[in-house]
Amino acid sequence: MRLTNLYCVLCGCPCPDPDRIICEACMTKLTSTMIPYQFTTYCPLCGMPEFSREIDCIRCHGIDEYGMRIYSLFKYSGYAKELIRLYKFSGCKELAYLIAQLIFSFADDVVKRPVVFVPVPCSHSSFIKRGWDQMSIICMWLRRFGCAICECIRRSTTSKELKHMKRSQRTHIKEDSWIQLKENSQTVFDDNVTYILLDDVLTTGSTLKACKSLLDTYGVKQIVGLTIAMD
Ligand SMILES: [Zn+2]
Ligand SMILES: [Zn+2]
Repeated sequence: MRLTNLYCVLCGCPCPDPDRIICEACMTKLTSTMIPYQFTTYCPLCGMPEFSREIDCIRCHGIDEYGMRIYSLFKYSGYAKELIRLYKFSGCKELAYLIAQLIFSFADDVVKRPVVFVPVPCSHSSFIKRGWDQMSIICMWLRRFGCAICECIRRSTTSKELKHMKRSQRTHIKEDSWIQLKENSQTVFDDNVTYILLDDVLTTGSTLKACKSLLDTYGVKQIVGLTIAMD
């Protein structure tokens, strides 16, 4: 499967293997910076890796703020940050394949099966700027790998974006609920399935929290968050 040109998209070195988007050296460097969930313990409340049981969780400080575990493949720095920058902001969509592979093997190793991926949609302004949704393309690959995907969440327009809309357009928008279930989504949530809310970068966690609350209102029992990186 030739997905890109013959050069590594991260370092620019020749990369003649048709199954690789980045060269072997970059792949080794990238995967060596993944958060080692398999070998470390993590906070039972928020999923943050804990390198010492003696110290309080540095993210949630022992307070069940998110109501779910949030896993991240990487810290938002170094190679991973460059990977996300190239993918999201330089339009290197081929990287979706690589990111989907990493997500697939991570979920397979760490999250209780069966799983369904629920992508968090990007904001309207990002969609207009870029013309595509970064998590949606990753999910397209996950689907090809045989994963179940449920694209049931939509974003309504935020109040910031409302300012730029005409009055006639505004009447259809409920300002209080910016994360909603798609109207046509005939989703029946299964109690035995772990629903993985999938987003790119975890900063405050407020988007994931809003998505979790939404799924809670539909009685979803098992929810975790998974992001490519955490800031
Ligand atoms: Zn490279
Ligand atoms: Zn925590």
